[in-house]
Amino acid sequence: MPTPDLDAVVAAGRRAIADAPDLDALREAEQAHLSRRSALGEVQRSLGGLDEAARRDLGRRVNQARTTLQAELAARRAELEAERDQALLEAERVDVTLPGRVPPRGAIHPVTRTIDEIVDIFIGLGYRVAEGPEVETDWYNFQALNLPPDHPARSMQDSLYIDSGNGREAGELVLRTQTSPVQIRTMQAGPPPVYVVAPGRCYRADTPDATHLPVFNQIEVLAVDRGLTMADMKGTLLAFARAYFGEERQIRLRPSYFPFVEPGAEVDVSCFICGGTGEGCRTCRGEGWIELLGAGMVHPNVLRAGGYDPDEVSGFAAGTGIERPFMLRSGLADMRTLTDNDVRWLTSV
Ligand SMILES: [Zn+2]
Repeated sequence: MPTPDLDAVVAAGRRAIADAPDLDALREAEQAHLSRRSALGEVQRSLGGLDEAARRDLGRRVNQARTTLQAELAARRAELEAERDQALLEAERVDVTLPGRVPPRGAIHPVTRTIDEIVDIFIGLGYRVAEGPEVETDWYNFQALNLPPDHPARSMQDSLYIDSGNGREAGELVLRTQTSPVQIRTMQAGPPPVYVVAPGRCYRADTPDATHLPVFNQIEVLAVDRGLTMADMKGTLLAFARAYFGEERQIRLRPSYFPFVEPGAEVDVSCFICGGTGEGCRTCRGEGWIELLGAGMVHPNVLRAGGYDPDEVSGFAAGTGIERPFMLRSGLADMRTLTDNDVRWLTSV
């Protein structure tokens, strides 16, 4: 049997190992040049057919050839592994000079911000925050506020009744149509004096349009103490109007009717766009005044419903939607924008 040229076998193996471009190719070169089926393996197998002297001589050379090739293989493998690791490092390198990825930041909704701002103004005047349930009884929402079941003013806010079990009659529970029931709950909770501001959600069966939402927010102001007069009310509301709309503002009171006050007034603020002149002003429609809120001296029946004696104490109340002052000051034309949740708009105001 012809013996392959061992030097040529080693030379071919070394070339294949040196030329292997990557670790996969190197494994193939190992198979081709060092396995039992390789040329070298073939030489090794041929040893058995030789006499002892020749076998010892060739065996030594085969071992040397194998050692040489294995050393080459190990060296090349180390080289290729280093290259691979380097490539991985390059691929995963962090460029610390790149600007960071900033996650989008949330913002406080304009309605919440307006509530906070108005509440802060009244806290500055010595008031505290009061709250009440959004599902109210007819008594707290209407009757205790001087709106008996047959009162015509009810139709203005005739609303969303809850047909509940719980031992209550149908029509006895209502989604509150105003924050005014908090007046009664506050008076019932403790003796006068009372100085509270009560923000919260209200519900009316209104179709949404540019100036109405079926779910909206109100803020209620109630002060009850000995000897409070309309002058106290006017001074308080003037302080509020100036804090919210600017120091130069004036307010005026126009007689109006709300069942839970007597006397009652619409409160206007002098226009903060035209300064009250009204000339060519679209915001106040040339009036110089903008309707701001409803107010009045707390009706004796309401004081009694709260457990107070109208001969001992008097008080004033005022209330407005939250959306309205925000729309006035920001120039927002359509109230529905407030519930659209369009992030482009929400982040711009
Ligand atoms: Zn104006």
